[in-house]
Amino acid sequence: MQIENYIRDIQDFPKEGILFKDITPLLNDPIARKECLKILVESLKGQKIDKVVGAESRGFFFGMLLAHELNAGFIPVRKPKKLPFDTISASYQLEYGFDSLEMHTDAIKIGDRVLIHDDVLATGGTAKAVCELVERLGGEIVQCNFLMELSFLNGREKINSYPIFSALTY
Ligand code: IMP
Repeated sequence: MQIENYIRDIQDFPKEGILFKDITPLLNDPIARKECLKILVESLKGQKIDKVVGAESRGFFFGMLLAHELNAGFIPVRKPKKLPFDTISASYQLEYGFDSLEMHTDAIKIGDRVLIHDDVLATGGTAKAVCELVERLGGEIVQCNFLMELSFLNGREKINSYPIFSALTY
């Protein structure tokens, strides 16, 4: 079972010049999906996790599976104005301009052991903003994990103070 066979390359999506890694074939295959979840869980080597934080929106899929498997809470981090309760917010740089991400203020308790998950680590801006939100609420980041890392974009450098695991590296 090679999970990379379930990641599809889409040329020029969402704009020209971008090679988009599409995880929908992986989501759609129960055996490959289970294998991928197993790889992510094993990378934690039995460490206790209280909360899994998933980044909107593709981080929600495996983020929730991980939370279920690890018996942990699940916390969605979302784009501005999507979450209904009180939020904190962190901004990050895009190619042109800035965007921000929000988390509920009561999502994490001081000392919670947190796993951060997203589908792709690209430039690292998203993951870094999520780490900032978690730490502002007093969470301890145990690992940032990803289905895949686009290593040529050096995203790892932005979050190199935390353990990082990627199931696949391109
Ligand atoms: P970063 O902030 O540049 O690291 O980008 C990571 C975010 O962009 C993640 O939330 C991904 O879902 C999304 N992303 C970037 N490139 C891809 C891709 O090729 N496929 C799917 N999502 C991507």
